[in-house]
Amino acid sequence: MNYRGRFAPSPTGPLHFGSLVAAVGSYLDAKSNRGEWLVRIEDLDRQREVPGAATEILKTLERLGMEWDGEIVHQSDRTHLYQDALHVLQSMELIYPCTCSRKEISDSSIMGLQGPVYPGTCRDTRYFPSEAHALRIRTHDDAIEFKDVLEGLHSQRLQREVGDFVLRRSDGLFAYQLAVVVDDAQQHITHVVRGADLLSSTPRQIYLQQLLGYPTPQYMHLPIVTNERGEKLSKQTHAAPIDVSDGLQQLVDAVRFLGQAPPAEIIEGTIASFWQWAFKNWQKNRIPH
Ligand code: GLU
Ligand code: ZN
Repeated sequence: MNYRGRFAPSPTGPLHFGSLVAAVGSYLDAKSNRGEWLVRIEDLDRQREVPGAATEILKTLERLGMEWDGEIVHQSDRTHLYQDALHVLQSMELIYPCTCSRKEISDSSIMGLQGPVYPGTCRDTRYFPSEAHALRIRTHDDAIEFKDVLEGLHSQRLQREVGDFVLRRSDGLFAYQLAVVVDDAQQHITHVVRGADLLSSTPRQIYLQQLLGYPTPQYMHLPIVTNERGEKLSKQTHAAPIDVSDGLQQLVDAVRFLGQAPPAEIIEGTIASFWQWAFKNWQKNRIPH
């Protein structure tokens, strides 16, 4: 089977249990299908980046016995690829400049899946303003559908539910939605396994894939780890870093969270014997959703 998966952490802090679950889920799904597993550092937003976090994440993966295939890629080295894709979309006349402020947008919008739905204020702007401006892509209201391995059929009407979305921010940064699509295609990713917080981004990504002539990978969105207040574990909610001195326990906890049932004695063994067990016994139909 041709299987190429990936783990794509943002280096905004050390690996926490939530990101470990995404790493372990994508790794096990790839390895149990004799696939490859790539690691990509999503470091486009240098303001949010914590110096040293990328190295620390990679060291943690290593300490946990997780072996990636090929070279690690960094999005910050790849802006020319995003620029090329943007040019293609520009030549299709789908891109327009937007100078609306956050406040203007929230004052004039209804709330959508992820904040205010951009009402299309600047849609018909034909000139490129001299002031800083974002670049948005025109969307449409035909349903974009995909079948998530765990969550089943998903459908979204982009214009109504999300609005024309930003591909390049007014500070010049390329948006995650564009970068992830270009990278998944350029790295020939066939299977995307990631947290369900990204489920509602997937139709935007499929829209861009279709326009750019890229294949759509298979998607599997994993349940999100929350803290006792019901918040997603993240840097903002002060999630604790993974303690690698206790790596085996962390791995066991991660696969249990994913519905797997490692035998009690697995904890007496080594990280290597854990992975041997896990590769053989991974059952995605056990993942809660
Ligand atoms: N970099 C994203 C994150 O850390 C993940 C992107 C993806 O898996 O598509 O949330
Ligand atoms: Zn605008």
